[in-house]
Amino acid sequence: MTKYNQPLGGNEMPRFAGHATLFRLPTQPTAEGLDIALVGVPLDIGTSNRGGSRFGPREIRCESVMVRPYGMYTRAAPFDSFQIADIGDVPVNTFNLAQSIDIIEKFYDGVLACGAKTVSMGGDHTVALPILRALAKVHGSVALVHVDAHADINDTMFGEKVCHGTIFRRAVEEELVDPKKMFQIGLRTTGYSAEDFDWSRDRGARVVPAEECWHKSLTPLMAEIRQAIGPDTPVYLSFDIDGLDPSVAPGTGTPEPGGLTSIQGIEIIRGCWGLNLVGADLVEVSPPYDTTGNTSLLAANLIFEMLCAFPGCKRREND
Ligand code: MN
Ligand code: MN
Repeated sequence: MTKYNQPLGGNEMPRFAGHATLFRLPTQPTAEGLDIALVGVPLDIGTSNRGGSRFGPREIRCESVMVRPYGMYTRAAPFDSFQIADIGDVPVNTFNLAQSIDIIEKFYDGVLACGAKTVSMGGDHTVALPILRALAKVHGSVALVHVDAHADINDTMFGEKVCHGTIFRRAVEEELVDPKKMFQIGLRTTGYSAEDFDWSRDRGARVVPAEECWHKSLTPLMAEIRQAIGPDTPVYLSFDIDGLDPSVAPGTGTPEPGGLTSIQGIEIIRGCWGLNLVGADLVEVSPPYDTTGNTSLLAANLIFEMLCAFPGCKRREND
């Protein structure tokens, strides 16, 4: 028997039953003793169009019951490699976005003080900003792999400096993210001006529009990104589910056609193996628009792939 927490097996308790934690792992009230803490951030008041991502963590937990402990192709074994538990949700104030941002940052300060890394379920993309603020206090500015249909670099939206469409501008301004090691993958469709994505480019970030991803494997792109970031730089992976095409991930607030395939999403996350990944999030899943549950199911599997991408995860390559 391993010393690590194990997901409750489908032969011990039917998959549709038992406690609805992420991957059927044990839950605990703090991150003490954990290598990786799984955290829900049920906040959707930073959203500019459809809401509903407040229900994301709960639904992703529900759909995660189908995720088993081993990656069949990579042979990755995150639950034999790390102590992982679901530590529940951040108690956001759903009536106050600014206060919620502070609550989230303090929550992550506490998790990081335990020495745990975090994998977070949104919530809308605003939640990445307070997470990055907490991370920067530990690591300084981090490299960023950002999957999204949108750049999220508006200066303001409706006059607000912090909401789901402004966070990476704030993160660069506050030096939470090094723009020279920032990669935005999957950006597309329409903007307010044809130069909308150039703010990132002008600061040295690499923008990879969805069109440059169409019809091909993203494995070579990820090799380039690993080369550019290097093995030691702390990296944060922020995965907005709307980076994927609405045909595979319809349950989201601001869907855009022409997006990445689920396969490309998996290639991006697997391509983070070899980086010094220090945290990751999966955001913008909105269950009310996810009539089949497939978006949450995909999200759960992508989060499993994130666990497999952390340095030290045992797998075929280092058996
Ligand atoms: Mn986003
Ligand atoms: Mn987006």
